[in-house]
Amino acid sequence: MFKLTDKIRKDQRGYRENYNKMSEGKISFDEFKPYASSMGVYAQREAGTFMIRPRILSGIVSVMQLKKISEISKKFSYGKIHLTTRQDVQFHKLNIEDTPEIFDEMLKVDLINKGAGGNSVRNVSCSPLSGVDRNEVFDVTQHSESVTEHLLGLDNICTLPRKYKIAFSNSKTDTARATVSDLGFVAKLVDGKRGFEVYGAGGLGGSPSVSIKLSEFISEQEILYYVKAMMDLFDAEGDRINRNKARIRFIRYRLGDEEFIKLFNSYLDAVKEKYDLRINIKPDMELSESPHIYGGKDKRVEEQKNRGSYSLFVHPVNGDIMADDLDNIIRYAENLDYEIDFRLTGTQGICIRNVRGNDVEGLLEIIRPFTREYVVENSVACTGAANCRIGLCNTNGLIEDLKETLESIDEGTGVKLPRIFVSGCKNSCGWHHIGGIGFAGRALKGEKGSVPAYTVYFNGKVVAGESRLAESYGVIPARNISAFLKSLFKSFSVSGYEFEEFISGNRALIDELVYEYSKLDRIDKDKLYFDFGFESEFLKK
Ligand code: SF4
Repeated sequence: MFKLTDKIRKDQRGYRENYNKMSEGKISFDEFKPYASSMGVYAQREAGTFMIRPRILSGIVSVMQLKKISEISKKFSYGKIHLTTRQDVQFHKLNIEDTPEIFDEMLKVDLINKGAGGNSVRNVSCSPLSGVDRNEVFDVTQHSESVTEHLLGLDNICTLPRKYKIAFSNSKTDTARATVSDLGFVAKLVDGKRGFEVYGAGGLGGSPSVSIKLSEFISEQEILYYVKAMMDLFDAEGDRINRNKARIRFIRYRLGDEEFIKLFNSYLDAVKEKYDLRINIKPDMELSESPHIYGGKDKRVEEQKNRGSYSLFVHPVNGDIMADDLDNIIRYAENLDYEIDFRLTGTQGICIRNVRGNDVEGLLEIIRPFTREYVVENSVACTGAANCRIGLCNTNGLIEDLKETLESIDEGTGVKLPRIFVSGCKNSCGWHHIGGIGFAGRALKGEKGSVPAYTVYFNGKVVAGESRLAESYGVIPARNISAFLKSLFKSFSVSGYEFEEFISGNRALIDELVYEYSKLDRIDKDKLYFDFGFESEFLKK
């Protein structure tokens, strides 16, 4: 695991100094705010409440850190931990006065915040199964960590025009979403030599795009040149005036793909000439095997490449795990006479790795009460209007409302359905643009006011070389979505197709269903203008 330097520790301690300046009136709250954002501290929707997002480096988290996360959540955040789509965690509903103490507590176990928000290089994503994956090209963990180490040593990672997201995937399956990132690396072998296919200038949110390919193959030692070149290009060419057009992909839109690649290559040449950034590659981690084979078929369990070892995917509803549930997992891990390890996933879950076959059932017993088996039930949803200040719709409320529909799916259909991605607005923090099924919050106009609704998306895909954005099929009021999905899944279950084929081969049927469930008169009048869980009318809260 990556070791913190004195500089990074000093940066973490700097939060208390800056907070004190603000609380003593030496700087205003507005002056403190951009710094706080860059350290992952944000005001939440409920007045006077705040969120802290520590940076969980590449999603790798130790038992000691998990214990501290649980402890902090119980003391300051009602015992609930939110797992994010960038392999981080968030503590919600905090008092601002408690934030310096939380920072101190986190540092005790090497949890840090630099660049966890604001206009920074964000957490470097890494495939959560990297190192144990049966289908990986090679383990990309050390590459992801080298990039983090390099970035955290720089002074300017928090003063970019906007956020800069980097990802490492251990195979074409692209579980870190390298092909829809500002800069993405996908592991590849050429003539037995390890390296990466490099993608860039993609991303979700406003004007989303799949990344373009920047290089067919680079050696694994060269990655930092690409990281630095893209950062320098962004720093110099990014839009610092219009925040909505500030991400790297907008430079590409402005120049066109060909010119963008030329420009990138000129920055790359300059970096290569000026710096020596080749990384030293360490031998891959050795994995032990076990004679204990898990004979069950639970979909949360993934067989690893080392015989007799398994990874378990823990996906709590809405990515919210209760500290007590986390404690039960930790206790189980601590009572084992061998080490298991933990990675946070980009789908708001925890991956428990290197579990021996004879311990799988014991862990399943712990996680079954708060997780579900099928991918379709393990939706990804941003925090939405319940917490986010700019969110429109209450994503968590929608997921709750879908529960009955999802639980009623029969096994044959359940295994074939894709994950559902939900964003509370068009910003795509819930990744709706890449989902097999996606929803993005918006408002519809009703006779007497605004109606909470979602744009419906289908057939997004993330696989290196095949990634594509989902297509929009229309708008459905939030209160009709559960019934819409029920009808959709019913038609799908008798179609005999895979889901992707079913959607693309039945446009007329899907359009008809969307039209049918777009009707406002299907909703009780007393619920029409209210989002799930809100007592005030939609957009009047
Ligand atoms: S997608 Fe919208 S509602 Fe969801 S977290 Fe992002 S900005 Fe907030």
